[in-house]
Amino acid sequence: MRRTKIVATLGPASDRPDILDKLIEAGVDVVRLNFSHGTPDDHRQRAVAVRSAAAKAGRYVAILGDLQGPKIRVGKFLEGAVQLQEGEDFVLDPEAVPGQGDEHQVSVDYKDLYRDCRPGDTLLLDDGRLRLSVESIQGRALHTRVLVGGRLSNNKGINRLGGGLTAPALTDKDLQDIKLAAELDLDYLAVSFPRDAADMQCARALLQQAGGNAHLVAKVERAEAVADPDHLNELILASDVIMVARGDLAVEIGDAALMGVQKDLIKRARSLNRVVITATQMMESMIESPVPTRAEVCDVANAVLDGTDAVMLSAETAAGRYPVETVRSMADVITGAEKHHIAKKSTHRINSDFEAGDESIAMAAMYVANHFPRVRAIICQTETGNTALLMSRVRSGMPIYAFARHARTCGRVALYRGVGPVLFQNERLSGVERDERAIAILKEQGVIERGDYVLVSRGYNQDIGGSTDTLRVVQVR
Ligand code: ATP
Ligand code: MG
Ligand code: MG
Repeated sequence: MRRTKIVATLGPASDRPDILDKLIEAGVDVVRLNFSHGTPDDHRQRAVAVRSAAAKAGRYVAILGDLQGPKIRVGKFLEGAVQLQEGEDFVLDPEAVPGQGDEHQVSVDYKDLYRDCRPGDTLLLDDGRLRLSVESIQGRALHTRVLVGGRLSNNKGINRLGGGLTAPALTDKDLQDIKLAAELDLDYLAVSFPRDAADMQCARALLQQAGGNAHLVAKVERAEAVADPDHLNELILASDVIMVARGDLAVEIGDAALMGVQKDLIKRARSLNRVVITATQMMESMIESPVPTRAEVCDVANAVLDGTDAVMLSAETAAGRYPVETVRSMADVITGAEKHHIAKKSTHRINSDFEAGDESIAMAAMYVANHFPRVRAIICQTETGNTALLMSRVRSGMPIYAFARHARTCGRVALYRGVGPVLFQNERLSGVERDERAIAILKEQGVIERGDYVLVSRGYNQDIGGSTDTLRVVQVR
């Protein structure tokens, strides 16, 4: 069982017939609908297609919606893309005719950009691939010179070096998309550019009002979000999941600081019992090439060794030429990295106190799992997936099977490292009978055999509700 999960962004490349089936077969655990691109109907269709493909494959694939947020973008080009040459002039003009961009000028979707910029500023386009220097501001238009050229296609993002492009975290479009997320009953919803815990609380309240059940992902991509550790902890605790959104984050804090911040974010999220996704350019060259570069292979492996729950693909699967090959390569690299002993050793909570009964059971289970070699699997009977989450914060090679009676829980835990969902609806059985049934299921799947030990956790008296308070160490008969 591969432990680290794969998030794949959907787009035109994954809409081709059969591709979605192949992506799921290749190991996609979570799909991402990027609300920055495409229409609500595109997202509706993709959500339906994913659910039916997952059902056909007998798998749980979670759906994550990603709000556009206040990201500033160039408009569209007449030809879809242009090639910018170093030293040439290029104008970003909010009053230009949309859709008519060329190698001299393009529209931008933020009319106050001129207020946040001054001559001498460096602007970074497409997650920093291209650089422009602001020469002058004429009306609302920014006249720039190309410092680093390259291909620029429709709707690529714009950042200012050092950060500081203002705009609140939730836009009018995001409010509409939050309703869409509720309508589509998404498992996860990502908030772009949150500044603090209050931005997450605001998104959560709006989602609840709209009737949504999604868990919230904070995309960590602003310099101010990571500047102060206490502030950062509050942001993480106000979220269910964080995403190390390396594109915008690197542009704001500088490439040199990125790897240290990634490692800190992964460790911090896990120690706060939160989930973490590492994103952006992980297999970027595979947009055009059927094999990854060694640097990409190492980047993915490194995130796995850091302890990330999931690694994410963006344009590689949304708009690339080799979406399926990319997922396959990523799965291979993950599996290889997970064999390293660092991926299995843990000091999580070793020197700290536990905060609740279910957490105590989860930690006890992991202690046994990591110290009793005859244990082969953990059966975690869980209502919301929380006990499985707590277990999976401890590094281990032990598979955690989340036995849940709600499909919603099965979808949610698909993102957690080391956790495999099993739909398990056995309300009529007693606690011990349920344990036996769960053990039989894993035996049928070939996960365990007679003589092995399994760990089983559940609420002792589930019929009257209440949380996990029981751990059994059972030898398989
Ligand atoms: P974000 O800042 O949220 O990451 P992004 O523009 O970088 O937004 P990604 O999802 O990271 O988008 O990358 C996907 C790339 O694939 C986009 O830059 C875009 O060029 C391309 N693409 C084209 N159509 C779509 C689509 N419908 N959904 C997603 N991506 C698309
Ligand atoms: Mg981004
Ligand atoms: Mg991106």
